[in-house]
Amino acid sequence: MASSGQKVVLITGCSSGIGLQIAVLLAKDEKKRYHVIATMRDVKKKDKLVEAAGDAYGKTLTLQPLDVCSDNSVRQCINSVKDRHIDILINNAGIGLLGPIESISVEEMKRVFETNFFGVVRMIKEVMPDMKKRRSGHIVVMSSVMGLQGVVFNDVYTASKFAMEGFCESLAVQLLKFNVNVSMIEPGPVHTEFETKMMEDVAKMEYPGADADTVRYFKDVYIPSSTDIFEAMGQTPEDIAKCTQKVIE
Ligand code: NDP
Repeated sequence: MASSGQKVVLITGCSSGIGLQIAVLLAKDEKKRYHVIATMRDVKKKDKLVEAAGDAYGKTLTLQPLDVCSDNSVRQCINSVKDRHIDILINNAGIGLLGPIESISVEEMKRVFETNFFGVVRMIKEVMPDMKKRRSGHIVVMSSVMGLQGVVFNDVYTASKFAMEGFCESLAVQLLKFNVNVSMIEPGPVHTEFETKMMEDVAKMEYPGADADTVRYFKDVYIPSSTDIFEAMGQTPEDIAKCTQKVIE
């Protein structure tokens, strides 16, 4: 439980990557300013987080199950927090989807929106009433540079992040008078399982029905140049965690 003066921070998608690092960085804060509720949809995956959190686990960091695609799971998770009181919500959970739309079913596309867009909306709807009532709070959303610029064969992922950008810009204006901040973080490439999986997907990718010039551009120009950019400029999850901490301070 949070002690007085500590901010309660709830983070989604803490089983790996950026979410895990944000949870650990905040939980290990020297001044113990945060009580972190680290969430993940399958708590059997907690070992990496528990190990990285070390002594903070069970003290400034507690774990809760949460699937952002389930109304019930979201409600249960927020109800488990004392007085449903969350000072900072960090919407980090997200999934990618790569490929020409000819090879992707609408069901798969909906899954991306269900996680990256409605997952965030669900969380915000649950925590916002208390933040407005207390006239204090901060909602952070992990968008992407792809929330600002379209990228070939990343149509659906890009669209889900664009949608989130529009939603949050609009919401931020409405929440200003309640002293509730809304912030977007827009990382470029980050070395996580997300990126590894994307590269594996590229290797297996098929292009039925896609235009030959676009496929050639994607394989011969886009992938080699993004691999170079990744190697030269790719950030670590720790970099993004530090940036997130700056945003909420
Ligand atoms: P990871 O794949 O390492 O982490 C994604 C996290 O989201 C995992 O913990 C995953 O859990 C969780 N998640 C997925 N679906 C759900 C769900 N329905 N409910 C709850 N949790 C879920 O990737 P990253 O750390 O890289 O990604 C984190 C965020 O950063 C994402 O929003 C991504 O779009 C964004 N981002 C990443 C970039 C990159 O290059 N890596 C660049 C820009 C933005 P599980 O283990 O259960 O699958």
